[in-house]
Amino acid sequence: MRDGDMDEQREWVTHRRPRGRQETMTAEGMTKMVYDLLKDKLNIVKLTFTSGVNAATQEFPSHTSIERCPLCGIALSEKGVCPKCGWKKA
Ligand SMILES: [Zn+2]
Repeated sequence: MRDGDMDEQREWVTHRRPRGRQETMTAEGMTKMVYDLLKDKLNIVKLTFTSGVNAATQEFPSHTSIERCPLCGIALSEKGVCPKCGWKKA
């Protein structure tokens, strides 16, 4: 890993430091943080995050009744089409 990458990451973590307890920014922490940021906008059911040697996949229960693609597990568009793979609801 290059020094520049380390500095950038350290600075970013410092700026995002949570109040209260100190939390090391692991891949697990990243998935949870991203989920918290996006859960109100997207119907996230699975998140995978990799960072160097760290990798984490977390699955979340769907919190809406939006229909999801059976292949990708992501929410279908208003027209019933998967925005990722193009699967269409019959
Ligand atoms: Zn799909």
